[in-house]
Amino acid sequence: MKIVFLASECVPYAKTGGLADVVGALPQALQRLGHEVIVVMPRYADMNTARYSLRPFLAPMGVWMGNTEEWCAVHTADNDGVPVYFIQFDKYFGRPGLYHDADFNDYLDNPRRFGFLTRAGLQLCKDIGFKPDIVHAHDWHTALAAAYLKIWHWNDPLLGRAASVLTIHNIAYQGVYSGEHYDYLGLQWPNFTPDKFEDHGRINFLKGGIVYADVVNTVSPTYANETRTPAGGYGLAPYLNNKGDRYVGILNGVDYTRWDPATDPLIPARYSPADLSGKALCKRELQRRFLLDVNPDVPVIGVVSRLVSQKGLDLLAQTIERIVDTMLVQFVILGSGEKTLEAFYGELPARYPGRIGSYIGYNEELAHWIEAGSDFFIMPSIYEPCGLNQMYSLKYGTLPIVRATGGLDDSVQQYDEGSGAGTGFKFYEPSAHAIYYTVGWAVSTYYDRKPHLRQMIQAAMAQDFSWERSARAYERLYMQALAVR
Ligand code: ADP
Repeated sequence: MKIVFLASECVPYAKTGGLADVVGALPQALQRLGHEVIVVMPRYADMNTARYSLRPFLAPMGVWMGNTEEWCAVHTADNDGVPVYFIQFDKYFGRPGLYHDADFNDYLDNPRRFGFLTRAGLQLCKDIGFKPDIVHAHDWHTALAAAYLKIWHWNDPLLGRAASVLTIHNIAYQGVYSGEHYDYLGLQWPNFTPDKFEDHGRINFLKGGIVYADVVNTVSPTYANETRTPAGGYGLAPYLNNKGDRYVGILNGVDYTRWDPATDPLIPARYSPADLSGKALCKRELQRRFLLDVNPDVPVIGVVSRLVSQKGLDLLAQTIERIVDTMLVQFVILGSGEKTLEAFYGELPARYPGRIGSYIGYNEELAHWIEAGSDFFIMPSIYEPCGLNQMYSLKYGTLPIVRATGGLDDSVQQYDEGSGAGTGFKFYEPSAHAIYYTVGWAVSTYYDRKPHLRQMIQAAMAQDFSWERSARAYERLYMQALAVR
């Protein structure tokens, strides 16, 4: 199949979240299965064009918006064998950041910027003669691709037979904007109705994408189910339910070239399931580095996360002191985000010297150290479309303690105290109480049921969340899109 990815982010060029990881890895995995994939994204002003060997490719390229034609240029680069095309249009992308200014104010013309990107991506296919079987859009930014195919290109010799796929990476972000942009976007006024683009007088990009896409997916089966409910769907549950079996969940993959303790160059020692002595060394070095009491027999619980309430870290904050006061356990915390949470976790080491270590900030090396050196890894998320850290943790033999939501529920198997089966510890209620008791369960397993602990570590490290597995699922989704289009 020929597939074009339209996206606002892609690793390594521009990243704010998991979307970029998917767009930077799934195309390569699809190519390894024999498909031909290209990626179209903006050329942001902040991008280091020399480092990524961007080459001028095409200029000018005319793009018809609803009521005007705009002219842009296109650059290209090779991302591990996948051609990436960068839309250069300084009016929209010649400014700092991706979505907002330095003060976190969203750019007011975001609907125009990403509506333009989407149409430019389709125009590019025409200009270079790339005839896609699948147009794969990601999140609200490019969700309109499906609508443009059906409204504008249904009769086009090049695009007319393409099927559309929309992947939702987080349904809380929908791209809802004033109707004043509607003419520019060229979506045609008869379609400005509540069953298509209209959302209480405004335009909802993601809703329109869901309605028009041939198939829709999100990044885990459980998150797909959760988003079908009023609480989880943020207003879009009815439209997802209308899709029937054309809305599914596919778990993201993990980049095991970067996250594998057998080869990880960032950690103090390498190890494998057959020989875990390197993990003990990683634990010792982690305890040293975070000024914890160096003791191999006290369990260490790791946190690597954005410090925001979605991640449940305000709930952990309510109970972490009670945990440390009543259990013989240590914490290592790495993260940045909301100021109150940064202040709270930043000050804990001074109050619990030798018991709690923390680092406020973003640090790739420390993230690897914590995955390798901890015994447990906690993610008490309120919701989690997929989540990556729990899958890294499994590979590093660091047992996840998670709330059973979204991708956390799909990737972690509950511990069975009778048989020792399972790969982690799950709880359901989003409360400090539930966190406290589940941590207690993990800690008592650590001290009192060593054979189970060893069995779980082996089971965890044997899990496979490779991109190849995800790519095969996307392949099936594409086949379904072609069948129903
Ligand atoms: P989300 O995309 O919602 O932030 P994920 O678990 O899917 O959550 O992915 C988070 C990624 O960001 C992981 O690769 C994690 O290691 C990394 N990360 C988050 N916070 C930090 C930090 N403070 N330092 C280093 N890496 C971090």
